[in-house]
Amino acid sequence: MSHRLEAGGRIVVASHNPGKVWEIQQLIAPYGLEAVSAKALKLVEPEETESTFVGNARLKAVAAAKASGLPALADDSGLEVAILNGAPGIYSARWAGPTKDFSIAMQKVADEITMRGGWDGGGPRANFVSVLCLAWPDGSHQVFQGKVFGHLVWPPRGGNGFGYDPMFQPDGEEQTFGEMPPDEKNAMSHRARAFAAFKADCLAGHVRRSEPPSRETAIEGLKAAAANLSTQAELARFVANLSADAAAHPDEVGAGMAPGLRRLATWLETEALEEETKWRLVARALLAAAQRT
Ligand code: IMP
Repeated sequence: MSHRLEAGGRIVVASHNPGKVWEIQQLIAPYGLEAVSAKALKLVEPEETESTFVGNARLKAVAAAKASGLPALADDSGLEVAILNGAPGIYSARWAGPTKDFSIAMQKVADEITMRGGWDGGGPRANFVSVLCLAWPDGSHQVFQGKVFGHLVWPPRGGNGFGYDPMFQPDGEEQTFGEMPPDEKNAMSHRARAFAAFKADCLAGHVRRSEPPSRETAIEGLKAAAANLSTQAELARFVANLSADAAAHPDEVGAGMAPGLRRLATWLETEALEEETKWRLVARALLAAAQRT
């Protein structure tokens, strides 16, 4: 069954990651839709027990739609390496271990490839995948998939992006995702492609407001993220979103802040910091710096 989202309605973003909720809020706000997080509705986050991206995205979206009575959007993504039979795949985040250290995850991918003699030739083939699932309270759902193909490089190059970006070079490009400016990556990424399919099917046709989301909407989303984040990785994502906000509102924030915040986000993504519970305090301090009083 295919449903369309109605302007004025609400959808649940079936994620407890404030960064993801913020990004989806930004995407759907121009269509007159409001995104609420699963965390705000106190929904229990189901375990990702399926063996495919589609299965896990569907499991999360269907559970959130049934529990909330609202349409729910969930995503699942990862890196697939052909010579590793699609690994790390749905385990992409888990290969980074409990400290979410992606230098470890990238090294592990490189070592597995070395063991199979996969570095000979132009670099092993790989692709990123992003799956979005929109589920409805009656259990029906729609799935949207985006992929970007390329090859892996070693050693990794570039400090932008996150996860496996520094070792992935998309076809037709000279730079890895880690070397590209974020806007360039975001224009061609697997996630952008999945969102484009979602928009075409579920959002296009709405009367699009002529104005982009207001600064107030953006700040509301950032405030919600600052109040809820609880890990170093979530703070890193928050700072990346703060950087995007600074770039989008140069008059209000000062465009000069954007690159510095971007570098801070990358540092937070990669630096092994002591586990502690003050991430929200840092987020609030950064939010204060990004606004005029
Ligand atoms: P999840 O979708 O939040 O479960 O994340 C899956 C994992 O896939 C991330 O933690 C990253 O390791 C990896 N991944 C997904 N998208 C990207 C990307 O755009 N760049 C680099 N790594 C990615």
